[in-house]
Amino acid sequence: MKPSLSKLQKFFRLEAQRNYDNRAVFGGLQRSLQNWDAEARADGLGEDLVNCITSKLRNYEKLMPRERGKTLIDIWLRIERETGIRSKGQRSRTKPAARKPASKSPSPPGPLSNKAGEGGIPDKGEAKKQTKIKEKRTSVSFRPHAEGESAALEAPTTVLNGVGPVNAERLEKLGIFTLRDMLYHFPRRYDDYSQQVRIRDLRYGMEVTVIGEVKRISKRQGKGRRFMTEAIVQDESGALRVNWFNQPWMIRNLDIGNQIVLSGKGDQYLGRLTMNNPEWDLLDKEQLHTNRIVPVYPLTADLGQRWLRGLMNRVVTHWAPRIPDPLPTSVIESANLEPLSEALLQAHFPDSQEEIQAARQRLAFDELFLLHLAVLQQKQVWQGQAAQRFDAPQDWLDAEIARLPYQLTGAQKRALADLLKDLDSGRPMNRLLQGDVGSGKTVVAALCMAAVTRTGAQAALMAPTSILAEQHFASLRTLMVGQGGLQPDELRLIIGSTPEPEKVEIRAGLQDGSIKVVVGTHTLIEDPILFSQLELVVIDEQHRFGVGQRAALRAKGTNPHLLVMTATPIPRSLSLTIYGDLDLSIIDEMPPGRQEVATHLLLPRERERAYKLIRREVEAGRQAFIIYPLIEEGETSEAKAAVDEQKRLKKEVFPNLKVELLHGRLGAEEKDKAMAAFRDGKAQVMVSTTVIEVGLDIPNATVMLVEGANRFGLAQLHQLRGRVGRGAEKSYCILIPDHEDAAENERLQALLETNDGFILAEKDLEQRGPGQFLGRQQSGFLDFRLASLSDARLIDKARRHAEQLLAVDPALSQPEHRELAAAVKNYLSDGKGDLS
Ligand code: ADP
Ligand code: MG
Repeated sequence: MKPSLSKLQKFFRLEAQRNYDNRAVFGGLQRSLQNWDAEARADGLGEDLVNCITSKLRNYEKLMPRERGKTLIDIWLRIERETGIRSKGQRSRTKPAARKPASKSPSPPGPLSNKAGEGGIPDKGEAKKQTKIKEKRTSVSFRPHAEGESAALEAPTTVLNGVGPVNAERLEKLGIFTLRDMLYHFPRRYDDYSQQVRIRDLRYGMEVTVIGEVKRISKRQGKGRRFMTEAIVQDESGALRVNWFNQPWMIRNLDIGNQIVLSGKGDQYLGRLTMNNPEWDLLDKEQLHTNRIVPVYPLTADLGQRWLRGLMNRVVTHWAPRIPDPLPTSVIESANLEPLSEALLQAHFPDSQEEIQAARQRLAFDELFLLHLAVLQQKQVWQGQAAQRFDAPQDWLDAEIARLPYQLTGAQKRALADLLKDLDSGRPMNRLLQGDVGSGKTVVAALCMAAVTRTGAQAALMAPTSILAEQHFASLRTLMVGQGGLQPDELRLIIGSTPEPEKVEIRAGLQDGSIKVVVGTHTLIEDPILFSQLELVVIDEQHRFGVGQRAALRAKGTNPHLLVMTATPIPRSLSLTIYGDLDLSIIDEMPPGRQEVATHLLLPRERERAYKLIRREVEAGRQAFIIYPLIEEGETSEAKAAVDEQKRLKKEVFPNLKVELLHGRLGAEEKDKAMAAFRDGKAQVMVSTTVIEVGLDIPNATVMLVEGANRFGLAQLHQLRGRVGRGAEKSYCILIPDHEDAAENERLQALLETNDGFILAEKDLEQRGPGQFLGRQQSGFLDFRLASLSDARLIDKARRHAEQLLAVDPALSQPEHRELAAAVKNYLSDGKGDLS
């Protein structure tokens, strides 16, 4: 590598290691690189490249650490592309597979190191018994001989003694096919029986372990064929009655005189302390079910907890220490993680609560780290492609903006600048434009489309419903047609209901290039449309589309620029994970003069006040939405059904009004008809489930009444609220929960307190988890075992380390990253990574 480049690389690495604090070198990066450009030129680097690097580094100091990381990665990728260098072979390290599994103590790691004595056993005799507990290590016995250890982990569960076809099938129901699957089948919870007490000190409700001798044991048949095994267990301090219900075989497990360990909860029977159904182990056997923090696994029918736990123990103690750790040591160290072997041991058979935390953190980190690597690598691929450049000369842009009926907000200008820069970058734009409902995303997209069509190229906009497509078509017509813009027939709309002859005409126009902008629904991709030169694809409300649909539209051009828009405020940590391969622009400012929607929380018994408001508004010529959470009354649900309610409202509440109905079970045409009737003012009240939540713009609607409001997420309610207040009139959002539950109402109060979608989204993520933010197609992708999408801190951390690693080894081609590269490849080939 040329000296100037290796110098740069060294700086970049140091910076990455320091989390981009700009202190890797004395005086900051740009200071120390003052004379670098001369060196680089002397090395024969291209003028363009040198200028690009120095200009990017000029502002380095002013950037946020995240931006800095991005800048350095960008620079390095460009260097690699232009010079063809690869950063491999820079460091050598032992292969992960060859690394010895680490353990904190010289003794064998994991579940069998017995720490029961630490609880402080008051009685000497007890302590002595403790030391008698043997460390017994069972190992997995293989029928066939496995070759590599990694390969052996892919062996089916039937290689285990005691697992035949029947049990294997039961395990499959839990998603366990191989030994590796077993390692990653984590406990559902843990019962902490690590506290040991004398029988005399057992109290009601305590979850503890006692040790004693079986004095008596008998079996009884209780009422209704219920078997009960009853035993008296005694230690020096006292005796305890123990009952096992419906486990008639217990009598065969125990004999009088056995020393046994019991773990469970102190209970009461006829005024005397007992233990019911405790876990048990013989004292001279390995204590797997008692006297420790005991894992409780998810089960399936016909699989016993005790059996599975025993099996897990055999597999985990044998294989966890032997599993190769795909994470490079540098990451393990700088991210302060536990080695994988230790984490797996501790996640299954932990020594302490702290160990559980550390283990689960490490394993959750792995999941997030892998995801970020996959997503970032995808981004690299994307950025490595070439795209047509479109510039927007200032005078042209000024004229376009001057034609608008309003001034752009600062946020719109900033977003527009991002987008125009992408269009002129020579790489395909891959950007998410996020902005609250009504923040004015359409006009920003329209200006981009104009920048593309002014050169004669084509743009397409896809919306999730016909109504939205029509709406966009209408706005684009006012924004783009005439006054030096498009001719009327250069902008067309194509939806399912477009008559066939017109479709034929549109297809022809797109193919010969006479149509410049087409707006449509999924018809755009289902129809055999060919474009002459599609260079910009805009997708509205992207979460309503599947990955395939987006890709299909993109495929109608050659590396077209892609802009996706969403009004769903997504917490930052989450958007990093779901949309991590997209660049992000946010419109976080509303156009001036918008009135805040007056939001009120009414109790169910105050409903009549809401109806009064609706009547008043309708009298003044306005319209109202009434939203219900479910379509039909379910047996288990008290939710109001839109269908039934519409009938009631029509008959009893608003007999003089036209009440439309909209719900998910209606066909697309019926839906469109209902929405069109409302849009055109033919109905005054729209009763609906949440299908209307997406982008519908009806400025004349001034009331949004949400029934069963407690059943909705805050972000969703905020979206619904955004359906009104779009015109000049004062608007209202009325929330009515199912019942007067104070806690729920408190949650809903947040909507009264803030109008900021992002704040509400953050709250929602905390309270209700990430599921509601995800489209159907994303749920598999984010199917984590341990990681939580609510854990912003860990998500950030994983992201940072993924960026740092890729900065050093963008293709993960260094030998020490081989395991990792394979894991990422696996991940992507599962159909997971491609989200955009
Ligand atoms: P959304 O971001 O929800 O898609 P739209 O693009 O539909 O928002 O814009 C909502 C409304 O605001 C439209 O009627 C649009 O004409 C108007 N609008 C957009 N930008 C501005 C602005 N800068 N000033 C005033 N009104 C604007
Ligand atoms: Mg919109």
